[in-house]
Amino acid sequence: MKGNLYLAWSSDKEIREKGDTGGAVTSLLKFAVESGIVDAVLAVKKRNGNRYDGVLSLMTDPGEVIESAGTLHCAPVNVAKEVKEYLDGAKAMKMAATCKPCDARAIIELAKRGQINIENLILIGLNCTGTLLPAVARTMIKEEYEVDPDDVVREDIDDGKFIITLRDGTKKERDLNGLEEKGYGRRENCRRCAINIPRMADIACGKWGTKDKKATFIEVCSRRGSELIERAIEAGALIVEQPDEEAVEGRERKDKEAIELGKAWEKRDLDVLRWLPYEDRLKYWSRYFNRCIKCFGCRDVCPICYCQDCYLEPERGFVRRGETPPDIMFQLVRLAHVTDSCVNCGQCQDVCPMEIPLTRLYHMLNRELSSMFDYIPGMDISDYPPLTTVTDEELAIDDVNVFKKNLEGNKQRGK
Ligand code: SF4
Ligand code: SF4
Ligand code: SF4
Repeated sequence: MKGNLYLAWSSDKEIREKGDTGGAVTSLLKFAVESGIVDAVLAVKKRNGNRYDGVLSLMTDPGEVIESAGTLHCAPVNVAKEVKEYLDGAKAMKMAATCKPCDARAIIELAKRGQINIENLILIGLNCTGTLLPAVARTMIKEEYEVDPDDVVREDIDDGKFIITLRDGTKKERDLNGLEEKGYGRRENCRRCAINIPRMADIACGKWGTKDKKATFIEVCSRRGSELIERAIEAGALIVEQPDEEAVEGRERKDKEAIELGKAWEKRDLDVLRWLPYEDRLKYWSRYFNRCIKCFGCRDVCPICYCQDCYLEPERGFVRRGETPPDIMFQLVRLAHVTDSCVNCGQCQDVCPMEIPLTRLYHMLNRELSSMFDYIPGMDISDYPPLTTVTDEELAIDDVNVFKKNLEGNKQRGK
């Protein structure tokens, strides 16, 4: 089913007008719950109409789904954590959930660990080139665009620009790079993100390739996704047409540009750290680790950190009751547990009250492991994290090139 492409719109005028790209995603969600394909829909809504306060909502009433129409760039919600922690890992209920690529990847990593029942989920992936922290976005709009942030009705990231649309229809744009040089713009992890079309979800939706049409470009990525789309078309909930070559190429070009931008930021943020002499590297990270107040926020918010009995709690016998874990131990336990599966979602850094650039560390080490083991977390449900599949024989190999060669041989033999 991978590879079916559509340009799609909602057949419902109200949804079409409310959605930023023709309302196809909202219509699909509404159809999924209305038709009984799922029991509920999980999507982001504005709390009290405030676009800087996006919250995940579980909706069982099809009439309510329209409230989730429209794109919010300043709502970096944590979909995987919500499903795992508060919705019982989707074990008792079928759900259609909208998700960014990093959300879908975290869901897949949790499913591999038996924490989420992915069979009960339909992942409606949304293309993403970055999200902003709400407080940073408000300050940026006030300072750099000189408008009231509450007058903004839409944001867009396109052609290296951050564009806002105001209530009266006026558009204002600023160079994204320039904003980010000043410390505004996307979250740090998002700048380095190079997985922008969520092909690991059941369907991938976005505006790239729609040219000037107010439509959604949909790529079907699984049988579940295909069934949903086909039934929605059959029922008349969705109007579709085949995208022409120009549209397909336009989408690919945008994706390529986003990947290049992500890689440029990765080089800029991480290469300097990667090649620092050992002593300087130690100094760099110790300075940050010593700041840590052990609030446990990064652990609690991380979708990949899922153990019920954590080594950092006294119950496990490594930390004395009434004391906090030592600086280095705290970070090393986290690193050992999440590095091979970190999806660079940025949630840990967002919550850190001491402004420790945690994603810089996790992303850097994850990239090292990825290239060594040829494993990118969250891309394929049947591909298991390296630290869960490594054998004694592989551990005994001390030449990394021999190790890689063996690994390649095993993959080709399907081991
Ligand atoms: S990490 Fe990537 S997918 Fe996740 S919010 Fe940022 S840009 Fe989007
Ligand atoms: S370590 Fe941080 S960036 Fe990585 S998955 Fe956990 S919360 Fe996300
Ligand atoms: S969120 Fe920051 S301060 Fe809190 S435990 Fe994690 S690293 Fe330390």
